[in-house]
Amino acid sequence: MRGLAAAGAACSDTGRVREVNEDRVLVLEHAGRGAALYVVADGLGGHAAGSVASALAVQVLRATVPALLAARVPPQEALIRAVRDANDEIRERATDPDRAGMATTCTALLCIGTEGLVVHVGDSRAYLLRGREIQQLTTDHSLVQELVRHGGVAPQDADAHAQRHVLTRALGVEPDVQPDVLTVPLRSGDVFCLTSDGVSGAVPAEEIAAVLRGTPDAEAACETLVGLANARGGLDNASAVVVRLRPRWAAVLARIAAPAALAAFLAVGVGVYQLEHSYFLGVSGGRVAVMRGVPARVLGVSLFTLVRVTAVGIGQVAPAYRASLTQGIPVRSPDEAQNLLDDLVRRP
Ligand code: MN
Repeated sequence: MRGLAAAGAACSDTGRVREVNEDRVLVLEHAGRGAALYVVADGLGGHAAGSVASALAVQVLRATVPALLAARVPPQEALIRAVRDANDEIRERATDPDRAGMATTCTALLCIGTEGLVVHVGDSRAYLLRGREIQQLTTDHSLVQELVRHGGVAPQDADAHAQRHVLTRALGVEPDVQPDVLTVPLRSGDVFCLTSDGVSGAVPAEEIAAVLRGTPDAEAACETLVGLANARGGLDNASAVVVRLRPRWAAVLARIAAPAALAAFLAVGVGVYQLEHSYFLGVSGGRVAVMRGVPARVLGVSLFTLVRVTAVGIGQVAPAYRASLTQGIPVRSPDEAQNLLDDLVRRP
């Protein structure tokens, strides 16, 4: 399995007409177990209660998803449980008369390992740009979308329909919420974009694709999308989250790409190709382990990742070989690592 790293940015703006921004966004790139979590929530309700609902959704996801992942709950279940918790929390807080009827959309993306998981309630959207093609992953939970499905409204008229803001599903409305759940096997180069309807209503999908293709920097892409929505009237709060997937080694390189670190990296004399294709036998937690990369650290960044820890304790290896193991013994493949280890264990 080739590791992929997600790197994202978010931007949210009140727009030109509304007084309050009731959209909330979340970028949480250390959600535990290597996962990254991204959310767009668009709140609804009088007296600015919408912003309370969307903020609650983001807060609950931010706290609950990492806690459940840490408890080894499967990622998809963790995400669904967090959305249900957010629904409960919003309903509980809505007993205050000022906040009665508050609700929010919630579109969340969890990137973990080689999977992207999307949970979705409402009319915020998740798009995926893969190669040159953009695909809308989510289906709006709106009255208009229901009409499209039943043939009453043409798909091309949906985004401009007068009742496009009427939702059929949102967090905070019913005691039980049924989020849509999607799984996307991630590929290097994938770009995800989450938007509130302030962006998707003003910027057609093909134009979102053009922005994502033309703007490698995630933060700049978000700002461009929100800027486009404002340039077209800014009738609603506008939010965008852009997430790019790239090989983990590329992310490591980017992290150490400060000139001093880069010089040190080059001094070690390794390249990305070597990191991806080198293995060594080393030690992790007192056991012999197979690693990919090279046994070195540059300014605190390790140039290797753990492939697997074997059942063999360092104590089972003859003393003469322990020091080399601790430093790392290069091998060409995980199989060769296993053969070498079998051999080492047999030696007196
Ligand atoms: Mn909106």
